[in-house]
Amino acid sequence: MKKGVTKKDDRKIKFDSVKGSKSLGESWEYAPAPESKDHVRLEKKYDLFIDGKFVSPSSGKYFDSINPATEGKLSEIAEANAKDVDKAVQAARNAYNGVWGKMAGKERAKYIYRIARIMQERARELAVIESMDGGKPIRESRDIDIPLAAARFFYYAGWADKIDYAVPGAKANSLGVAGQIIPWNFPLLMAAWKIAPALAAGNTVVLKPAETTSLTALKLAEIIREADLPPGVVNIITGAGATGAALVNHPDINKIAFTGSTDVGKIIQKAIAGTKKKYTLELGGKAANIIFEDAAIDQAVEGIINGIFFNQGHVCCAGSRLFVQESVAKTVIRKLKDRMETLIVGDPLDKNTDIGAINSKDQLEKIKKYIKIGVNEGGEMYQANCPIPSKGFFYRPTLFTNVSQSSRIVSEEIFGPVLAIQTFRTVEEVIEKANNIPYGLSGGVWTDKGSKIFKVTSQLRAGVIWANTYNKFDPTSPFGGYKESGVGREGGLHGLMPYLTIQN
Ligand code: NAP
Ligand code: MG
Repeated sequence: MKKGVTKKDDRKIKFDSVKGSKSLGESWEYAPAPESKDHVRLEKKYDLFIDGKFVSPSSGKYFDSINPATEGKLSEIAEANAKDVDKAVQAARNAYNGVWGKMAGKERAKYIYRIARIMQERARELAVIESMDGGKPIRESRDIDIPLAAARFFYYAGWADKIDYAVPGAKANSLGVAGQIIPWNFPLLMAAWKIAPALAAGNTVVLKPAETTSLTALKLAEIIREADLPPGVVNIITGAGATGAALVNHPDINKIAFTGSTDVGKIIQKAIAGTKKKYTLELGGKAANIIFEDAAIDQAVEGIINGIFFNQGHVCCAGSRLFVQESVAKTVIRKLKDRMETLIVGDPLDKNTDIGAINSKDQLEKIKKYIKIGVNEGGEMYQANCPIPSKGFFYRPTLFTNVSQSSRIVSEEIFGPVLAIQTFRTVEEVIEKANNIPYGLSGGVWTDKGSKIFKVTSQLRAGVIWANTYNKFDPTSPFGGYKESGVGREGGLHGLMPYLTIQN
């Protein structure tokens, strides 16, 4: 038996090509490789981070943050009401008027660099907490979320002293106080996407994380204190939708930056219509991942797997609609099913895990509801035959064939590990089908022909399109949606502009 491989555990992986395996397809199992959580320190209770201090909520109310992989309680989190929101906005306003708004860019940069460096120093702790609180595999939080979050701060720190050159021939000024609301799928990363450009541009911030994943944002509050940011420059208020709504409706906010569902995005757009508040909205998606017959099929299959099963499909840009050219459809689907059988679903803290826990019970119910809809609509379902833990919120990787453009699982965002597969014959047909949806956040194209990449990517109505790869992010690159996937861009120079006013 291969070293490090055991038959005791109940998770299986096939090593068809491993030298010494007795027969093709023989099943081997990995020994558990859990990341240690000994170094993680969590408080029993977390207060609101306002004006540089942790303060109790005025209602005295706290809610539980649980680990979705065990259903165990991790900590209690303060619930901010309108009074607390007002306190946080006032603190941000005072910090803006008194210090941050007047500070030279090169001085602001030092603080932002410091945040980035402390995040790197505490990367392991942050990764483990992210996996415990949100359910994503440690491989992802360790190799993707935390490094990318630090990279955002590094990147925008570099802009802080160059704001005067952001728009040649014009003067760029900060806005004031930004209210920022983020979802649960990339908790620390989304906080970094929001806070870093706001600070670089000279604004102060009140941020609300999602109810189910507040812990890394509160750890970020500790880091911000350690970096010695002037009190009130960043305030972190926890709570549910009502807390977010109070922030949106606060009269002394200059800009709202929201990432979340299209439904809540529409509520926010309505709420601030007619006010002077600026806004950016990063909303839902239903990306088309398109595989042409001339693509490198094995790489494409890996790309499809990464596109939809990465982070349990809790990804706004997940490649949840797969379009395969008819001539290779049989092969692609067979290879996909084979690959799905090798995926390991289970403990997010285990380094072998490919698919961790679904973020919450509600989200698991939503996925199950869509599975029923898919089956009732006549879709043919295939689920990986892997074991899943009996406790916690888990779901098997799933694909559907025999679906059409009118199927709900093809047109609505599920936000889970569920792939809907359709076939096509011509380039024109697939462009039309891919665009025939209210969303337009992202997409993927797999082909050997550069000219086809240019033709398809220029006609797909989506903000980000990957070619021969999927789900790659970089702080220098703008990200955002067309149509109901959002308004405005985050990342790069584009992501700095919504935090500035331009005077010609
Ligand atoms: P959500 O329900 O819209 O929640 C997003 C955030 O808004 C949470 O902090 C939520 O608080 C808060 N919120 C809820 N109701 C509110 C209201 N009336 N006013 C103000 N804030 C309110 O979305 P989610 O389920 O957390 O996240 C999944 C969605 O986010 C998906 O649709 C996904 O596509 C989208 N997303 C988009 C991007 C992008 O870049 N385009 C990135 C990631 C995710 P609570 O959670 O505490 O209730
Ligand atoms: Mg949690």
